[in-house]
Amino acid sequence: MSSSSKHINSSEQLLDFIKEKFSNLNQITKENILNFKKDLESSLSPNLTININYLIEELSQIIKTKTNPKQFIEAITSKNIINKSISNIKKDISTRGEKVDSILKELKTAAENANDKESVTDLEWIIQKLHEGDIYEINENFMENEHFKTEINKEGVDYMIQYSKIENDLQKSKDYSAVRKNNLNKNAINIEAKNTDDKNANINTRSEPNFIIKKLNPELSIKITNILSKIDSPDFDIFSLDSLTDAKGSLFVAEEIIDRLDIVKSEIIERDILKNFLNEIVENYSRVNAYYHNDLHAADVMQTLYTMLIKGNLKAKMKLDDLSKFAIIIGALGHDLKHPGQNNMFHITTRSKIAIRYNDKSVLENYHIANIFKIAKEDKYNIFKPFRPEEYRIMRRRIVEGILATDMKKHQKVIGKIKNRAEVYSIKNGKNFNKMFNETDANKLFDAQQEVLNMLIHSADISNPAKPSKISQQWTDKVYEEFFRQGDLEKKLEIPISMMCDRLTTNVNQAMIGFISFVVMPTIDILFNFLPEIPEYSKNIHENLKKHQLEFSKDEQAKKLKEEKMNHNNNN
Ligand SMILES: [Zn+2]
Repeated sequence: MSSSSKHINSSEQLLDFIKEKFSNLNQITKENILNFKKDLESSLSPNLTININYLIEELSQIIKTKTNPKQFIEAITSKNIINKSISNIKKDISTRGEKVDSILKELKTAAENANDKESVTDLEWIIQKLHEGDIYEINENFMENEHFKTEINKEGVDYMIQYSKIENDLQKSKDYSAVRKNNLNKNAINIEAKNTDDKNANINTRSEPNFIIKKLNPELSIKITNILSKIDSPDFDIFSLDSLTDAKGSLFVAEEIIDRLDIVKSEIIERDILKNFLNEIVENYSRVNAYYHNDLHAADVMQTLYTMLIKGNLKAKMKLDDLSKFAIIIGALGHDLKHPGQNNMFHITTRSKIAIRYNDKSVLENYHIANIFKIAKEDKYNIFKPFRPEEYRIMRRRIVEGILATDMKKHQKVIGKIKNRAEVYSIKNGKNFNKMFNETDANKLFDAQQEVLNMLIHSADISNPAKPSKISQQWTDKVYEEFFRQGDLEKKLEIPISMMCDRLTTNVNQAMIGFISFVVMPTIDILFNFLPEIPEYSKNIHENLKKHQLEFSKDEQAKKLKEEKMNHNNNN
């Protein structure tokens, strides 16, 4: 019985099969190898996986110098090609991306054999994009012309007319951007802010700064330094800082934290480039478009994450490398970059350009990530330039995975994974936490670290109710105002008003009770097992919950009184 009539199950059988196909030929040609490929494909047992492309490529290389069957078979054996083509496949499909890659390469070979040049070019392009991680690369023209009105693409709605006010505001913020850019090289700590006694100073909008020409005010400088000295504290007051610095609080926070990192102290990254980058990130947030999801929220998440890392001594406990720590902190600052002020659902419903681009999946999160890397591609902002490709890959993965974990849709998944870890390793009150990182396998260690980093950045993102009451209340006001503005927009567009976005019917205290009880409190409870060093977060949550409950019962009483009064009037 010839071996071609039965399945090839082992490397020995594969070698026999090769011998049988080639040893009786006078001279081996390329055509013989292509025929062999077809025969092999139909004879392979499903139990044996072979990287056929690799094998055929190697055989084709050999016949360039050795067409005599005896020499040909000797070369295969001496180069250990059979075993390599078997072990290669295992490596090839270790990740989903690599599996896709191997399928695409097979397709490319098929297209080459069929002489289909157009498909070969297309497939080469796809494979290249996959390798560069550029699947979601943003079209340059789109980025340059980007504007609120082009973001929303709902048919039949004339945004130009309805939102001329927003357009005007945007223009103002652009002018201001130009002024700030001129000030780019100034050391943030040395700038003079406007008179802090000026109670009329509007801290929510970026008014024309008047600090540029004024000289340094030592008293103000001390106040700012005092606030910044609490940068790793759970009661850090970002709002006071922002008002003292004429709405530049986020840049102060970013520079203060970055300056404290070992990777920055070692001066691997050029100082100017780092400063330019931080400034550009902050600049690309808009307090006009997004009342809550702007640079101040971004800096708050960065500061909260930094506090967790420092207070919990997490770098040592999690065996985090400098690159990963740096990356996740940068990720926190960029995690809502260019937020337009409406949520994912709004973009999906209105079929906005970014929803189309990201196929309705973590639309904003993908958009924020892409914008960070878009900025970093420019030389003057390229903080990744000094790093080797494998170092860049680590940082990119940390940032991409971390920011994707901030999609509220992933809440259950992020928390579920961590809960599971807590059970497996019996992690409680900080005990056994380090066991998670006893992995010797680098990939497993990376994943374990990433799961915790994902929980940290997600917790920091929803940590408003874990802050001191005075600070927490300001965030609540901002986030609901942003929701209500989305609701106003939805009303104008005559589309269903999203939950908690109707300013006429939403009771903020009631909504906050739900959010704290069902989302924030369970998250911080789990976090506490990993990070017992910050009990303030849990304490603040309980206080804030009580406050909202009290306010809500007052709201209800007032509503009841009003109704009674109305009934009374009606009866008369
Ligand atoms: Zn956020």
